[in-house]
Amino acid sequence: MRLMVTGGAGFIGSAVVRQAIADGDEVLNVDKLTYAASLDNIAEVADNPRYHFAQKDICDLPAMNDLMADFKPDSVMNLAAETHVDRSIDGPGAFIQTNIIGAYALLEAARAYAESGAAPKNFRFHHISTDEVFGSLGPTGEFTESSPYQPNSPYSAAKASSDMLARAWRETFGLPVVVTNCSNNYGPYQFPEKLIPVVIIAALEGREIPIYGKGDNIRDWLYVGDHADALLLVAREGKPGETYNVGGRAERSNLELVKMICQILDEELSDSPHKPHEGLIKFVADRPGHDQRYAINCDKIERELGWSPAQTIDEGMRLTVKWYLENKQWWDAIRNRGFDVTARQGLGKKG
Ligand code: NAD
Repeated sequence: MRLMVTGGAGFIGSAVVRQAIADGDEVLNVDKLTYAASLDNIAEVADNPRYHFAQKDICDLPAMNDLMADFKPDSVMNLAAETHVDRSIDGPGAFIQTNIIGAYALLEAARAYAESGAAPKNFRFHHISTDEVFGSLGPTGEFTESSPYQPNSPYSAAKASSDMLARAWRETFGLPVVVTNCSNNYGPYQFPEKLIPVVIIAALEGREIPIYGKGDNIRDWLYVGDHADALLLVAREGKPGETYNVGGRAERSNLELVKMICQILDEELSDSPHKPHEGLIKFVADRPGHDQRYAINCDKIERELGWSPAQTIDEGMRLTVKWYLENKQWWDAIRNRGFDVTARQGLGKKG
């Protein structure tokens, strides 16, 4: 497959790029290299002759036109986005720009490419979205592919908007669009402003581990390698016009999750002066508009494409914790760029 991935220097995108190269695909990674990107994430494939990189903004329509016309992808997978909910509260503008205008530019470029006759017959435009577009659940129930959209944060509203654009480009222009909506990912190379790396690094350094509100918000957790497998399967075999939910079948409250990480750290670092790491937990002000619960029903992708999550949360979380322990140079390099891993964001200062 000739695969054009946007956002391939980020967390999930780089997992897709590494996996696609391992599978023998030809990959073009298009990434603007925002603060959330790291070329270290794709260092292992950088010299592979099947790997190509273009530092471009997906909002740049002429550049997207040129890249598609030159690379002639079988699939375009859009993972480029502003992704941190807290940042979307402090400054929604970048989210509107990349997540909506950027998606629009890619859809238009894909339409021009498809209409030029240069695209292969099985061309797909694959847009990656989130379960957050469905809003918040009570104690029971799960999101299915037909759940109504009820986004609550600027981040999820911008993602929902791009899903609607993808839908419209399919219905109006016949673009072969597939959309996937996934739950919270975890694993190696996640930028250290997201919950899991924040917790691991704070605990390692003996700092307070911040938990928003009472820690009773529930998320479904999906191992990033499983997600990359699902995305590559959908890019190859997903049916145009369909959406697929991708989940880890691993619901945990934030407090349960943090305690689990602390337990793993206690075991992996048996002579740490910060043991028991759970003692570092500190409840802090909640995120405004914090969704209470997400749960994903991923029966459709299992039934129709034969994908299900391979990693249990116990195994996946241990792999993840060990990766951060063994790859301090990766997160130190981010810190050395001036990123403050202890900064609290998302309390609603004007942006
Ligand atoms: P990330 O923040 O780690 O990486 C995003 C990447 O996109 C970065 O490499 C960044 O440089 C690039 N990018 C941002 N703006 C760009 C632009 N204008 N042009 C080109 N590149 C740009 O994100 P992630 O966590 O890997 O998420 C990838 C996708 O998956 C996003 O669309 C996100 O909404 C979706 N998603 C993520 C999760 C999760 O748990 N991480 C859950 C559901 C959905």
